Amino acid sequence: MQDKLKDIFKNPPKETAAYVHVPFCARTCAYCKFYKTAPTFQNIEIYLQCLEKETSRFFNSAKGIEISSVFIGGGTPSILNESQLSRLAKIFERQAGNVEWTIEASPSTINPKKLKTLKSLGVNRISLGVQSFNERTLKNLGRPHKPEASQEAIAQSLEVFGNVNIDLIFGAPNQTMEGWHSDLEKAASYPLSHISAYCLEFESATSCCAGNEKPFETQIKEADFLDLAMDFLAQNGFKHYEISNYAKPKKECAHNLNTRDMNSWIGFGPSGASQFGGFRFRNPSDLNSWAKGILENSPKREDVVKLDDDELFNSALVFGLRKIDGVNLESLKSRFKGADFSHYEEPVKFLISIGLMEKSGGFLRLTRKGIPLADSVAVELL
Ligand code: SF4
Repeated sequence: MQDKLKDIFKNPPKETAAYVHVPFCARTCAYCKFYKTAPTFQNIEIYLQCLEKETSRFFNSAKGIEISSVFIGGGTPSILNESQLSRLAKIFERQAGNVEWTIEASPSTINPKKLKTLKSLGVNRISLGVQSFNERTLKNLGRPHKPEASQEAIAQSLEVFGNVNIDLIFGAPNQTMEGWHSDLEKAASYPLSHISAYCLEFESATSCCAGNEKPFETQIKEADFLDLAMDFLAQNGFKHYEISNYAKPKKECAHNLNTRDMNSWIGFGPSGASQFGGFRFRNPSDLNSWAKGILENSPKREDVVKLDDDELFNSALVFGLRKIDGVNLESLKSRFKGADFSHYEEPVKFLISIGLMEKSGGFLRLTRKGIPLADSVAVELL
C-alpha cells in the first residue's frame, strides 16, 4: 500500500489544511496517547532539519497548492525556544498567507517575546492548554502549571493576539460541578474568541486523551458537565458549533471544521496524520524512524488506507454529526455519489425514533439528548 502513495500527487486537491506535530513535552501526563519525546537540543535539531526537508519535498511535489489553514500542535510546540519557534514558523511563512494559523501552547512555556515572534511570522491564533483554573484539578490531571500561570499566559496572549482559544477539561478525577462552573466563569471573564471544552476520557482529538470505558454513572455525570458548559457558554456569547467547541461569532476554528467536513489535510512531523490525494496515512510515531525516512528520501507511512466514496461518506456523516448544525445529507450524497446510502436508512430511522437525532431544513443533526451520546451514535452508523 505504501507504494501507492506515490499517486497522491497525480490528482492533488486545490487546497489543503496543514497540521504540524511538534512531539516534545517536558513531562508525560497521565492518559496522554499523543506521541511525544524528550526535548533535548539534539532531538529538536533533528526534528527541525527533517521538518524543513519534509515540507519542502511536499511543496515541490504539490506545486501551486493552497494552504487553507495551519495548525501547529503537539506535544508542546511552545517548549521550543524563540529561535527554534521562529525556524518552525518560517517554514509556513510564505505558504500560509492570511489563513487561520494556530499554535498550541502550554501556559508555563510562553512569554511575550515568543508570542511577538510568532505573530511577526504570521501566526494569528493561539490555543492555550489551560485545562482548569483549579489548582487541585490541575494536580489531579498531572499538569505542571499553576492557575496563576494560565492567567498570566491568557493576559499576555490577548495582548499580542486578538484570537485566543483556551482548552478546558471536564470529567477530571474528583472534579465537582461547582469547580466546573467556576472554571467556566473564569474563562468567560476574558475576551476569548474560542473555548474548547473536552471531556477527559471521551475525547481523542485533544491534548489530554482518551482513557478506558467507564461506568454508566460516570457517563451520566459527564453529560451533566457538558450540559452546564452548553448552557453557560451560550449565555455568555459563545456559539456551540461542535461537540467540544464554542466560538464567538465568526471565530469557529477553520482547521477543526475542515476535518469534520472531510476535506484534505496533510500532516507533518512524527505521527502527523493526513487525508490527501485519495488516501489516509500517518507518519511513524517515532522521531528517529520518521527522520530516517525523510533523510533517506523515502518517507515512511503507516496505516495507509485508500479512500473511496463509501469510506468518505461514512466519515463525513459520523464526523459531520459532531457539528451542532449537523450534515446536509443531499450535499453529501452529491459529493460522494458512489456511496451506498441505503446502508444508513435503518440506523438513522432508529436514532430519530429514540430522540437522539432529528432531520430539519435538509440537515440531519444530533438532538440535545443525542449530543452527549455522539460516540454511541457513531457506532450505530459505522
Ligand atoms: S497531554 Fe499534552 S503536555 Fe501532556 S504529555 Fe500529552 S501532549 Fe504532552
